Amino acid sequence: MANKSYEEAIVALQNLISEKRELGPVAAERIDQIIAELQTSCKIFDPIHRIKSGFMYFKTEIYDKNPELFEELKKGQEPKFLVFACSDSRVSPSHVLNFQPGEAFMVRNIANMVPPYDKIRYSGVGAAIEYAVLHLKVENIVVIGHSACGGIKGLMQLPEDGSESTEFIENWVKIGLPAKAKVLAEHADKTFEEQCKYCEKEAVNVSLANLLTYPFVRDGLVNKTLALMGGYYDFIKGEFKLWEFHFSLLPLCSV
Ligand SMILES: [Zn+2]
Repeated sequence: MANKSYEEAIVALQNLISEKRELGPVAAERIDQIIAELQTSCKIFDPIHRIKSGFMYFKTEIYDKNPELFEELKKGQEPKFLVFACSDSRVSPSHVLNFQPGEAFMVRNIANMVPPYDKIRYSGVGAAIEYAVLHLKVENIVVIGHSACGGIKGLMQLPEDGSESTEFIENWVKIGLPAKAKVLAEHADKTFEEQCKYCEKEAVNVSLANLLTYPFVRDGLVNKTLALMGGYYDFIKGEFKLWEFHFSLLPLCSV
């Protein structure tokens, strides 16, 4: 409704210009200025329009053009990957790794953390891992960290005295405390920014180690039906690194 009134106002002004050609240059310039301001107002972000147009693009360009894929997906999903990625809007694995519908079962949270097995505190994450491993039988679990991660920065900034000033965030990122401890011990001479970068990668290793606390993940590794991988997406350099989990990562201290 608001946009319509803006559009009507612009049309009215344009009519005024065409009707009032005798207007002086100052008045004409003022009218041009008003039109420009109104046109800017028309570009106010409309979330409903954004969602509708986004789905229309997906429907016409992807869904309708890949009937075989979507017919297959109607029967069920058989993703090869369980992916942990950060909630950060810049790091969606569907874009960064070009995962197609049905390819990757995903868990996204602050700082792409996998907490240790805990039925009470972390049942949401545990349920996703259990479902992916036991029911979907994914063959790979990938934990992907990324550059300039706000969650990791928050972890590195946690006060020494253990006090918390947020409702959820600080308590959540504490899952990565072993990574922070390792970085501070090994890179004490580095700048805070450099330490954050090390921690972004080390926290992935902590998550990989935490995955071993889930019995069905351990079984999958022992039976070689499951592989664990760490990844790091640097959106500043436009690079992606991937490494395999080795048991040598295990000596990390636990929370
Ligand atoms: Zn992040």
